[in-house]
Amino acid sequence: MSEQNTILIVEDDEQLQRMLQSVLSQSGYQVVGAKSGAGALEQLSTHKVDAILLDLGLPDIDGKDVIRQAHAISAAPVVVISARGSEREKIAALDMGANDYVAKPFDAGELLARLRVALRLSRRGENAAAPAGKLQIDVETRRVIVEGRAVRLSRKEMELVRILAAANGAVVPQESLVEQIWGPTTETDHMNLRVLTWQVRRKIEPNAAVPQYLIAEAGEGYRLKLE
Ligand code: CA
Repeated sequence: MSEQNTILIVEDDEQLQRMLQSVLSQSGYQVVGAKSGAGALEQLSTHKVDAILLDLGLPDIDGKDVIRQAHAISAAPVVVISARGSEREKIAALDMGANDYVAKPFDAGELLARLRVALRLSRRGENAAAPAGKLQIDVETRRVIVEGRAVRLSRKEMELVRILAAANGAVVPQESLVEQIWGPTTETDHMNLRVLTWQVRRKIEPNAAVPQYLIAEAGEGYRLKLE
C-alpha cells in the first residue's frame, strides 16, 4: 500500500470504537475517531479523511444528519455501521448519501472489503471528476454525478443508464433496451421507455428539453454521451 488512507470512525460505543481502530490500523489505515456527530464533523474539518465509518445511533446528532453534513464539508465516502439492520434504515441511509451499509454484528473481513470498495469508487469518482461536464455513474448506490451534482436514480432508471453506459456511446436499439429493462417476455412497449428516458433526463440533464447526455437517435434508439 503506497498511500495510507485515513479512516474516520464515528462510534459512541467505546469498546466497538477500540475494536474498529485496532482492526483498521492493523490493516494499514490511519485512523481518527469520534464518539459523536459533532466530534465527527470537527474531525472532518481538521483532518483529510478518505472514508468514514459511521454508526447511525449517535448520542447527539441523528446519523442521517451526520451523513448530510459530512457530505457538505468532505468528499469522503460514508459506510454506515448500525445495529438497526432493517431494510428501511438501510434504504434511508443510502438515500441520505451513504455509500454502503454494514449491519452489526459484522465480520471484520466483510467490513474491510466494503471499505475497500468505497475507497475505490470514490477514487474513481475523483479521477473522472477532472473534466467539467462529465457524467459519473455509481451503479451500486444508483447515484449519478452530473457536473458535480449528485442525483439518485430508481432501479429501472439506473438500469437504463447502466446499459447505455456499457455501450460506450454507441446507440442501443429501443427493442434491446425494452427487453433488457422489462424482460424478454414483455411486449415491446416504447411508451414505457419514453417515460423512463424522460424521468432520467429530468434528473440528470441541466435542461431536460435540450438533452446533452441522454440522446435519442430518431427511429433507432438511445445513446449516452459520457462527456
Ligand atoms: Ca451507537
